[in-house]
Amino acid sequence: MDYQKILNEIEEELKGELSKGKVADYIPALAEVDGDQFAMTITLENGEQFSVGKYKEEFSIQSISKVLAFSLAIDIYSKSLYKRVGVEPSGNAFNSLVQLEYEHGIPRNPFINAGAIVVVDALMSHFGGDYAALEKVMTFTREISGNPELKFDTVVATSEMEHASRNLSLAHLMKSFGNFENDVTDVVTTYFKQCAIVMTTEELSRAMLYLAFKGTDPISGKQFLNEAQAKRVNALMLTCGHYDASGEFAFHVGLPAKSGVGGGIVAVVPNVMSIAVWSPRLNKYGNSHVGTLALELFTTKTGLSIF
Ligand code: GLN
Repeated sequence: MDYQKILNEIEEELKGELSKGKVADYIPALAEVDGDQFAMTITLENGEQFSVGKYKEEFSIQSISKVLAFSLAIDIYSKSLYKRVGVEPSGNAFNSLVQLEYEHGIPRNPFINAGAIVVVDALMSHFGGDYAALEKVMTFTREISGNPELKFDTVVATSEMEHASRNLSLAHLMKSFGNFENDVTDVVTTYFKQCAIVMTTEELSRAMLYLAFKGTDPISGKQFLNEAQAKRVNALMLTCGHYDASGEFAFHVGLPAKSGVGGGIVAVVPNVMSIAVWSPRLNKYGNSHVGTLALELFTTKTGLSIF
């Protein structure tokens, strides 16, 4: 298959869509990003990459980082983690408080904000503090991305902390139900730093190969998750990776994937490749407008979907 030709076609066909949607503005530092940008990279089993657009441009991976933290947490806690966070789609916005109250402080899944904050709390308890937990997430991300220099953007993390009322509320609500172990501000600050990791589509696509290949990075041969754990992460990405638009995403794209409000989406074609796409303008669910369309075009043109 001529992947480069397909990516070039996708870029061309979506030019008229780049001005649609809205850049995330509830995090002021993200509101400054030029919305009309686009990049897409696929990485194959042998590490071969095909890209289009601004694939060397770094962007804030935001909620895509929830997959990384969750991968570490299931490896440590195994089934006991599911006492603190569920595995059902939420059908609600990623930062909704309502469901959390009804369900006694147990978030529906690890990819909505409340669930991801619980995962960070669990990592902090295990590793003995905010700094140690963040270091582990960073080390893991550096390892899978092949970029030992990978950083988080302190400006974005600080900007989000200055507008953190809703995420702090989610954390306090969970604490009131006894589903919280560490200091609320410490955990949420660490969560924001993790969300502020910056990557290019080249790096992100490379990083997610372990999920496309049953938990083992096919390039280094290193096993990060066992087969059963990788299956579960992929299942959650398919059912919960796009919040209340997860069903629609599965319907149109048909791949396990995770989005972030920085405009990135990462998707996995099991046993074949991982794909990263980035375009900052979001649809009403907080998922990249052009990114979603690009992935839909990709699976339509290549026939590569899990269905
Ligand atoms: N850091 C963002 C938040 O907590 C992540 C949300 C997202 O990417 N959907 O609101």
